[in-house]
Amino acid sequence: MIRKFLRNVFKRNTSAVNSKFQLCIIPPKEHGINRVQISPCALKVAHKLQKGGFSAFIVGGAVRDLLLGLEPKDFDVATNATPEQARSLLRRSRIIGRRFRLLHVMCGNETVEVSTFRGPIPVDSDILGIKNNTDQHGRLLRDNVFGSQEEDAARRDFTINALFYDPFSEEIHDYLDGYADIKAKTLRIIGDPILRYREDPVRMLRAVRLAAKLDLQIDSDTAKPIGDLAPLLLNVPPARLFDEMLKLLLSGYALSCVVNLRARGLHHGLLPMLDVILEQPMGERFITLVLKNTDDRVQLDKHVSPAFLFASLLWHEVLATWNIYKTTSGEKPLIALQKAIDDVLSKQQKNLAIPRRFSSTIIEIWAMQPRFESLTGRKPFRLISHPRFRAAYDFMLLRCESGEINAELGAWWKNFVVADQDKREKMVHKPTSTRKRRSRRKSSTQSKTTGLASVTLVNEKAAS
Ligand code: ATP
Ligand code: MG
Repeated sequence: MIRKFLRNVFKRNTSAVNSKFQLCIIPPKEHGINRVQISPCALKVAHKLQKGGFSAFIVGGAVRDLLLGLEPKDFDVATNATPEQARSLLRRSRIIGRRFRLLHVMCGNETVEVSTFRGPIPVDSDILGIKNNTDQHGRLLRDNVFGSQEEDAARRDFTINALFYDPFSEEIHDYLDGYADIKAKTLRIIGDPILRYREDPVRMLRAVRLAAKLDLQIDSDTAKPIGDLAPLLLNVPPARLFDEMLKLLLSGYALSCVVNLRARGLHHGLLPMLDVILEQPMGERFITLVLKNTDDRVQLDKHVSPAFLFASLLWHEVLATWNIYKTTSGEKPLIALQKAIDDVLSKQQKNLAIPRRFSSTIIEIWAMQPRFESLTGRKPFRLISHPRFRAAYDFMLLRCESGEINAELGAWWKNFVVADQDKREKMVHKPTSTRKRRSRRKSSTQSKTTGLASVTLVNEKAAS
């Protein structure tokens, strides 16, 4: 209804030959976006391109967010200039990307992305001597064919992401009823949903993320194929999946995204056994806590460490594997933990490649966990001066809060962290003499054990 009504109100005569869609031009007094809301860098880029004789529009997420009353994260510009033509007009710019070539323009700290209008990719035909534009599942392997503004609109993912705002005329160009969909709070994929998800399965993750973040309803035709096509995500390069998952987890709506991923069967293969973990009361409680914490931090504009987040999401997988090594292979606890960490991370790399810069921190956070149980002698002092102490400590507190380990251990460490040196010395347990230690070791192998210094994982069973 709204779509039809708005289309009639803003209809323009655009009887261009070969035009597949009708262009609606939405005037500023209707849509309400003002040029002062556009970043000075994006305005400068658009101005220089237009002065150079090209068209240039603010496009994508920024227009969508402004229409929804949100502050855009960044501004993208779309133009009919090729990357080389645009680069010749814009100082401090460089061409990036292979599968999708575009121009990055830097102004101070800000980077504006300038993309040339894209056209449809001929499916597995021979263009410029290049064959196989898609893989065997229909996934696009390259996207560098230039086209018209209308064609560019049609190759975007969702109608609400295909609006072009001209910052000088202040009009919005809408080929696909994206404006009406924004007003109706509907997320609708452009074109045939099955084909578009096959071209790029990441669009399924984007649908879940945008719907959660922007509080939109996914249109039923857009939502329907998602469950069946979920396995296509396994063909997406792991590094791209990681980027998209990170965007999702740092969207400020991670909890509702993960609930939705699960409801639509999209979680399989992203984080190993996220499905299994979520079905266990302990795992679910832990992950819910972590995601809620993350969302609160993002919404308060506080820093979130991706390493901490992935360490948390995979922790119950580590626990379960650790437990297997300890019980069935009879490994010593620390060796068993190391093996479990190796297993979990290498399995993970196949589906969703965690970059090395994060994985070393993840390993440290995990490997430090057993050290929180040693409250004797100099050990707590050595632990607190470790450069990663803060992350490992926050992680341990979450484990307490989720009920995985004894809350008293967390309380002890909270006191230790704020205590002065004198008090810390009094808090730590005194080391026993060598003889006593030996006899204690002997008895501890017979009965496993009580007391704070040996807090055991109370819920290893639940995690296994
Ligand atoms: P946000 O930046 O808030 O995550 P966004 O929509 O701006 O959302 P970007 O990844 O910055 O997301 O993409 C910019 C624009 O590029 C999108 O608005 C959309 O028009 C287009 N786009 C992004 N990813 C795809 C895709 N997988 N398929 C088709 N078009 C896409
Ligand atoms: Mg964006």
